[in-house]
Amino acid sequence: MPQLQTNILKQITELYPNINIQKSDQFYWSPREQIVYYSSLENEVDHWSLLHEIGHAIHNHRKFKTDFDLLMIEIEAWQEAKRTASNLSIEIDEDHIQDCLDTYRDWLYLRSTCPICTSTSLQLDSKTYSCINCRQSWNVSKSRQKRCYRKKI
Ligand SMILES: [Zn+2]
Ligand SMILES: [Zn+2]
Repeated sequence: MPQLQTNILKQITELYPNINIQKSDQFYWSPREQIVYYSSLENEVDHWSLLHEIGHAIHNHRKFKTDFDLLMIEIEAWQEAKRTASNLSIEIDEDHIQDCLDTYRDWLYLRSTCPICTSTSLQLDSKTYSCINCRQSWNVSKSRQKRCYRKKI
């Protein structure tokens, strides 16, 4: 294992000995298994992703009821990631955080905009939205965890 990779894992494990971290094919937090998964730790963006998932683990984020809740837990995970990062003397690029959150904001906007009158609407349950303005209601696919795509530089 390269030096950089062992270092961050070691540092995080020292800081949070109760968090179980395992290698997988992508970055995610499994509340059911109580395990943080990571795919690779080759560059700083990978490190930030790991810190973000650790943020979910610290708050023990579980299933969200509405799309808006999903955005909220994403924000909370990044805030926690920043706290952990400063403990490890790592700096997370604020633009990266905002890019990640934008993918959620765009997705939320698309789902919550009324297809008839383009007003913003209320989410009734995990699959249904209703427009406050024209009372149109529509179904959306079940909320799913969106991945943060790396911005091409
Ligand atoms: Zn997240
Ligand atoms: Zn409408």
